[in-house]
Amino acid sequence: MEKRLRWFDEGAPLLRATADRLGFGAALPAGEDWYACPLCLVAYPRAAVAAGVLTEEHVPPHALGGHGLLLTCAACNNTAGTALDAHAVRRRHLEDFFTHRTATGRTLPVTVHAAGIPLRGTIQWTDDGSLQIFGVPKQNHPGQQAAHVQTLDEYVDRADPNPDLTFTIQTPRYNADRDQLSWARAAYLAAFAALGWRYILHPVMAPYRIQFREPATPTVPIRVWRDRTAALDQRRILLVEQPDDLRAVAVTFGQRLILLPGIDRPQTSQQLHDAITARSAGGEPAADLQGKEAPWPRWPTYLLDHHPPDPPSW
Ligand SMILES: [Zn+2]
Repeated sequence: MEKRLRWFDEGAPLLRATADRLGFGAALPAGEDWYACPLCLVAYPRAAVAAGVLTEEHVPPHALGGHGLLLTCAACNNTAGTALDAHAVRRRHLEDFFTHRTATGRTLPVTVHAAGIPLRGTIQWTDDGSLQIFGVPKQNHPGQQAAHVQTLDEYVDRADPNPDLTFTIQTPRYNADRDQLSWARAAYLAAFAALGWRYILHPVMAPYRIQFREPATPTVPIRVWRDRTAALDQRRILLVEQPDDLRAVAVTFGQRLILLPGIDRPQTSQQLHDAITARSAGGEPAADLQGKEAPWPRWPTYLLDHHPPDPPSW
């Protein structure tokens, strides 16, 4: 509670000052401090903290190793957990499964094809680091299961060096777009905490907020880059200056890199996406990003609000 009140007391006057400077201070009622949820921009008075309407948001989500960073409204905070973050967590579990390669008792649902004959089952790691496949009889037609097992037996009998075996991991409750949106939302919140109101109140940021709240309707194209050389615990905000077409706010969570519109001559989400696509190779950046680092925020620092450019840059 004390932390949330402090976040309110630090953020509200900066919101007022920045809104005044940008010419829409009249949108905030006079005579009281107001803090806007950075995701929906609904403004709340200080009593909203005690009422539990302004809540502590973890960045990245708590289940992905994040820590409490800032205030968002309960509606935005709660809906993201199931709509977006659950997908990022499922993906993380999948990656952990194949990274650690140790027997943990965890299983993944799969369909194994032997010479094209499918068998539904599960996979798990054994103590010696090999992958073990189990058919689940209830999920398979008995005849098909028998044909599948017979094919496997024939491979074994012939000591076939190249058995026609593939497996597909079943991810019925995983949605890759929602996974990426979860990371983009976390990047947006980290960038807000570091840079402040001036950053998110730029018109190019509005479609991102709509997309986070309405993930089922494509509004802004999102692409999360993978940097497989990065440390898993890396956190970084880079204000990209070069290359010029990628001037952006680049937010790094471990091996995930998200580019949001920059603070100088920001591009629209579509322009930025086109530049990212042109600079991508196999899902990884094919460009060397150069620029200034902003310190990773442990609490909201509002860098641009404390040091506003004069005159305003937009
Ligand atoms: Zn909100």
